[in-house]
Amino acid sequence: MKKLEDYVISIPDFPSPGIIFRDVTSILQDGEGLHLAIDQLLEMVKDVDFDVIVGAESRGFIFGMPVAYELHKPFILARKPGKLPRETVSMDYELEYGTGTIEMHADSIKPGQKVVIIDDLIATGGTVEAIAKLVEKLGGQVVKICFIMELAGLKGREKLAGYDVESAIIYE
Ligand code: IMP
Repeated sequence: MKKLEDYVISIPDFPSPGIIFRDVTSILQDGEGLHLAIDQLLEMVKDVDFDVIVGAESRGFIFGMPVAYELHKPFILARKPGKLPRETVSMDYELEYGTGTIEMHADSIKPGQKVVIIDDLIATGGTVEAIAKLVEKLGGQVVKICFIMELAGLKGREKLAGYDVESAIIYE
């Protein structure tokens, strides 16, 4: 039987020389790969007591939403700046290939809510660290952070020290 990592196509020197890009779209374009990915995320949260899932734009939406749907939980979008129509809170962060800003609706997390964050991949950890800070700014508690893939060499987990982090596939 194929494992989740068997569905990942790795592209050398994309988007710049020396970077190996791990392409999650190659998981999605196979029905069994997609199913396996969501099943593995469901397995990661099955014993976690939580209220809300937050997904990171844009591939965190793809992987987070089916988990929220299956478990009858709300799904909150952490978006790039200027996309959310109502009052937002925002956080700047450093990316593997530049800098970014992430925003959430100010009313999306209620104080005391337990939050699971889902994204496709952790590289430096900057994106999800910013989202975790936003959740906390809104009074939420991050109880688990789930990824499909982790680029362990970039030590993103160090940025997320103190959080419960789990990845389906770890690349050294
Ligand atoms: P971080 O903030 O450095 O952890 O970067 C994570 C974000 O960058 C994720 O949302 C990914 O979508 C994207 N990213 C960085 N490197 C890769 C890669 O090799 N493959 C796919 N996405 C990547």
